[in-house]
Amino acid sequence: MFWQKNIETLPREQLEKLQLLRLKATVKRVYAKVPYYKKLFRAKKTAPKEIKTLEDITKLPFTTRDDLQKNYPDGLLSVTKDKLVRLHTSSGTTGKPKAVFFTEKDIATAANNMARCLTMTGVTKSDVLQNMMSYGLFTGGLMMHYGAEKIGALVIPAAIGNTDRQLLLMQDFGTTSIHLTPSYALYLAAIFEKKGRAFRKKLKLKRAYMGAEPYTEETKNKIESILKLKVYNSYGLTEMNGPGVAFECGFQAGMHLWEDSYLMEIVDPKTDRPLPDGQTGELILTTLTREGMPIIRYRTRDLTAIIPEKCKCGRTHRRIMRIKGRADDMFILRGVNIYPQQIERVLMSVAHVEKNYQIYLEDNDKMTVKVEITKKLFDGNLEHLKKLQFDLTEKLRAEIMVRPSVELVEPGTLPVSEGKAKRVFDNRKIY
Ligand code: AMP
Ligand code: ZN
Repeated sequence: MFWQKNIETLPREQLEKLQLLRLKATVKRVYAKVPYYKKLFRAKKTAPKEIKTLEDITKLPFTTRDDLQKNYPDGLLSVTKDKLVRLHTSSGTTGKPKAVFFTEKDIATAANNMARCLTMTGVTKSDVLQNMMSYGLFTGGLMMHYGAEKIGALVIPAAIGNTDRQLLLMQDFGTTSIHLTPSYALYLAAIFEKKGRAFRKKLKLKRAYMGAEPYTEETKNKIESILKLKVYNSYGLTEMNGPGVAFECGFQAGMHLWEDSYLMEIVDPKTDRPLPDGQTGELILTTLTREGMPIIRYRTRDLTAIIPEKCKCGRTHRRIMRIKGRADDMFILRGVNIYPQQIERVLMSVAHVEKNYQIYLEDNDKMTVKVEITKKLFDGNLEHLKKLQFDLTEKLRAEIMVRPSVELVEPGTLPVSEGKAKRVFDNRKIY
């Protein structure tokens, strides 16, 4: 099933023509309206007139997370503020988040792309979609909501958590589709196993959309077999509107990325050189239709590869593989993007803390931070140790919005690595 068959199956040649037209317009727009981009372009000795083909994109500068943070709150806008209708920020940090702004047209485009995604997995206006992603600054809730409403499906804005209520909603309103993170899906699966077959039989569930975090094929298979539904992979990021960037079709062999909205490249994250289709590297995305805050060559830091073969479904928009990891050390816990540097900043701001620390991640969203403290404190009064442990836990919670357990260890206990220090030990089975 198609939402916009003519665009979704547009012959490549025409699709690329459209991309070039939109790329040129986007580049002109940011050069004229966003002083920061003008500066970046000039530093790279380039200008909009240099863009004559799609390949010329490599002449343009990258935009990084750092650029977005430097321009926080609204330095990258290309419209006046009265044209804006919404903002979202990326999950995580209480420091400087990344803020992304939308005009009415931007929201409509994002919702339209989302509607394409859902339609290609079979959703129609007769469906009931229970949206178990958090609503609010995070894009996962609202963007999916808008897309499903556009189709005319009945949307239950359940948000995440309160599992008893989720089960009741599913049962009472005949939910056919759910949208959730893989970690919440695993939690739900355990509850389904306890409730047994009779409970599952009462439900009308057909499909789950899982994204916002990385997960393996094994996790997908496990969820499919316990929840007895089809799991579709959903990829997106706040900077590019949130969910609806790339999505699996009914053939479930990679995610179609909407190339009329985004120009994708894969580059070697170390050399920044473009990689051919089929090779794994960092996904770089340029917005092609965004009005409020266009972004040029955004370094997603997500590692994937472009699948060059045409999909059996007939769509001409190319697919990307399941995300294979990150080019940086960000990890996601309970839907929150966390960088070890955030943890380091907190640890280092507290007296009696030494330089070495490690972060352990376990199933059920458990996070332990082991940190070395001064010998004097370690050998001293137990009350002081307890207070330090409490202070660190609270400060970390305020920074990363997740409460870790903090273990204070004697100096010299944690291994010192020679090259790049390994800080994060991800023992979660789900990945
Ligand atoms: P956020 O901007 O908070 O929505 O986080 C976006 C990040 O979540 C992406 O850059 C990816 O690292 C991760 N992510 C989102 N969807 C997926 C997915 N389907 N598979 C793997 N990682 C994902
Ligand atoms: Zn397809």
